[in-house]
Amino acid sequence: MRLLVVLIKAPLEMKKLLVICLTLASLSAGWSQVNLNYYLPSRVQYIPSIPTPQSVIGHEVGEWHITHDRLVNYMMTLDKASDRISMEVIGQTHENRPVVILTITSPKNHQNIEQIRSQHVQLTDPTKSGSLDLKEMPAVFYMGHSIHGNEASGANASLITAYYLAAAQGPEIEKYLDNTVILFDPSFNPDGLQRFSSWVNSRKSKVANADPNDTEHNEAWPGGRFNHYWFDLNRDWLVAQHPESQARVKKFHQWKPNVVTDHHEMGTNATFFFQPGVPSRMHPLTPEKNLELTKKIGTYHAKALDEIGSLYYTQEGYDDFYYGKGSTFPDVQGSIGILFEQASSRGHAQESNNGILRFPFTIRNQFTTALSTLKAVNEMRVELLEYQREFYKNASAEAGKDLTKGVIIGSKDKMKLFHFLEMAARQQIDIHKINGNQTVNGKTFEAESSYVIPFNQPQYRLIKSMVEKRLQFKDSLFYDISSWTLPLAYGLDYEELKTPISLGEKITEPKMPEGKIIGKGEYAYVIEPFGYYTPRATYRLLNKNVRVKVTTEPFYADGKKFERGTLLIHVENQEKVSSEQLQVYMKEIAEKDGVDVYTHSTGLDYRGVSLGSPTFLTLKKPEIAMLVDGNVSPTDAGELWHLLDTRYQIPVTLLPVSVFNSTNINRYNTIIFPEGSYGTVSDMAKEKLKTWTQSGGLLIGFESAVNWFNTAGLAKFETKKEDDLPTGQAGKASKEIQKTKPYADIEENRGAQETSGAIFEADADLTNPLLYGYTSSRIALFKPNNLFMQKATGAYANPLSYGNAPLLSGYISKPNYAKLKNSSCLGVSALGRGRVIGFTDNLAFRAFWFGTNKMVMNAIFYGPLLNAEVGR
Ligand SMILES: [Zn+2]
Repeated sequence: MRLLVVLIKAPLEMKKLLVICLTLASLSAGWSQVNLNYYLPSRVQYIPSIPTPQSVIGHEVGEWHITHDRLVNYMMTLDKASDRISMEVIGQTHENRPVVILTITSPKNHQNIEQIRSQHVQLTDPTKSGSLDLKEMPAVFYMGHSIHGNEASGANASLITAYYLAAAQGPEIEKYLDNTVILFDPSFNPDGLQRFSSWVNSRKSKVANADPNDTEHNEAWPGGRFNHYWFDLNRDWLVAQHPESQARVKKFHQWKPNVVTDHHEMGTNATFFFQPGVPSRMHPLTPEKNLELTKKIGTYHAKALDEIGSLYYTQEGYDDFYYGKGSTFPDVQGSIGILFEQASSRGHAQESNNGILRFPFTIRNQFTTALSTLKAVNEMRVELLEYQREFYKNASAEAGKDLTKGVIIGSKDKMKLFHFLEMAARQQIDIHKINGNQTVNGKTFEAESSYVIPFNQPQYRLIKSMVEKRLQFKDSLFYDISSWTLPLAYGLDYEELKTPISLGEKITEPKMPEGKIIGKGEYAYVIEPFGYYTPRATYRLLNKNVRVKVTTEPFYADGKKFERGTLLIHVENQEKVSSEQLQVYMKEIAEKDGVDVYTHSTGLDYRGVSLGSPTFLTLKKPEIAMLVDGNVSPTDAGELWHLLDTRYQIPVTLLPVSVFNSTNINRYNTIIFPEGSYGTVSDMAKEKLKTWTQSGGLLIGFESAVNWFNTAGLAKFETKKEDDLPTGQAGKASKEIQKTKPYADIEENRGAQETSGAIFEADADLTNPLLYGYTSSRIALFKPNNLFMQKATGAYANPLSYGNAPLLSGYISKPNYAKLKNSSCLGVSALGRGRVIGFTDNLAFRAFWFGTNKMVMNAIFYGPLLNAEVGR
């Protein structure tokens, strides 16, 4: 009513505006009657032969959540119907869903697409880019949607955007298509999108329920954000450990786009965000010009959102620091990454501080900014192409000025090294073999297991970001991790090269190494503990009823020393397998696990223990359950699941906390508690767990589970409290009146105390079975928390602990660093016949922290063998 009164009194222009507003309001209120016109620009005509989304998917966009199969179905239909679009399947998700890309450009460009592409990528090659005529070249624009599957407005908007790009008519769109090659990814995370759409669609009422308490708005664990193994794919662009990322990174390098967009959602009470993020939190390796261009592109979003009357903000949140994020990864490669964040209706309609937030409204903002980016890319085309060309020219000049000329990398473990090279090669980094053995800073790198990455190459900045250690930061707040030094994460030996060394053969496609059978003995087989996949071999043997022993003392055989942790498979001492079968298994280990198998003909060598020595302990096959669901962290549990399932091929029961509470756990001998809080474990279940452990069970906990073991009385893993600062520090100050600080700084000061993820060096006792297979007593660990465990009093109870200066790379606040120093990161405790092991840090972080995976596996295989004296 009041609006009508205003309308009558208002001048003509104002009336027009209000009529539009009222129309939009009524459309968005009657969401079930939403139609295509709500989304699309009004003054555009559409080609009638192009099918609308509704005609293919069976509902209007925004009425239901699009499922991934229907989404792909529509994209296939457009591929057939439009000569502007060609679709290809570039990969398969873990759940076998297609990862698709649509190349969208003018029909004329489609006819010369390979020529356009090969000319475009020359912009990244300073030896060729000088002669290119930028005015004649299209820009390349990679549009990506909903990498977090439950941030679905992006993927749903992709239906509208794809329809618009296929069907819109007129000089504007034709000019855009002539001047742009669009790489269009409708769903960055197919498995997550499918999971989320199933949830919200199956819980939607006919009468829309906007109550945030309704089941529609409260997804079940683990939620649709993640991929199949509960990984956040928006942290995987750099290391690309998942098939979705591998496919898109390949596409990225095939085309080297100028702009990459990344459509997300944030909290329901927010509005709309577009980048730039907080300028002080931009990675220093990203040129300032990137920020300038991002801001300029931002003016296009602002104008478009102003026109439809949507609220938005920019610069205040999010950042461009970690290059593993979709909107940051492009920034270190001459491209501009743009993050969009839309307030989430997380369902079809939900109450918010801004009134009822309806799904179609969220979709429209995403579509609107997809188009505003397209306009910006076109109007800034030459500027963006020029920027890309300059970026690579400058990279080459900067590499020349860098005092470091490259890095040399090697390892006794060829598999870990292979996985590192594979990751680097995926990012188009040139890798070379070395000519002969090299000694750098006193460390010897052997020719057959060492490589060089020279800095003087187009990917200089990316390489630098991967290998550098960083201790200085402009800001102390991080949206994600503050360090990811990859040679440390992979647990490799490496040194910076201050003078260039002569390069050997260039490696274009690293080959997975194979092991060898060494020797012709028929008495026993022996496997060293250094190989990454040794635990996989161990499990396979145990699963085939082979008796496997591990040595707790070094021994010699055929003139070679074998370290603690070496596996022994005696040929005669087997009940269930023949010597012929053993031969087959050993061959399989050499071929599949890349591990050398030694054969010996005698058990005697006086320099060490004999093969029949009591210091060899017999391994038991692990029967593993891992707690999931409830308040267990999905990403942490997912990392362990992925590690056991895909790398080591060891079965693990994913045991929901509620089932754990009520079931008999005696079929397991190993139970893993990932990071999480376990307040929902019942008292009865706690007792059951205690009894189970006392009678020989193995408990392994990570991060805050360590605290729970302590409070549940399963182990004495005491952590440092708030005021447990070392004497002379602010210890007592917490009880005194603190210095007054501005209210406005609350958030920032609190944020600065977070340890979002940094790398520290721990001192290891390599004679402890939990650390078998490591070659250096200093081991790099990834710490994403403020959990600091007190050292235990026992002489053997601190096998892995931080010393006086453990920080290798990344950010930690001063008070937290004081607590971290001289703390323990591995607790070991005996409870009856059982063992309890607690790690304060993440040993399987994002599937690229290969270096610490072995500790997880050692805990599983050797935990039960630990001497009872080891207790805390
Ligand atoms: Zn997101």
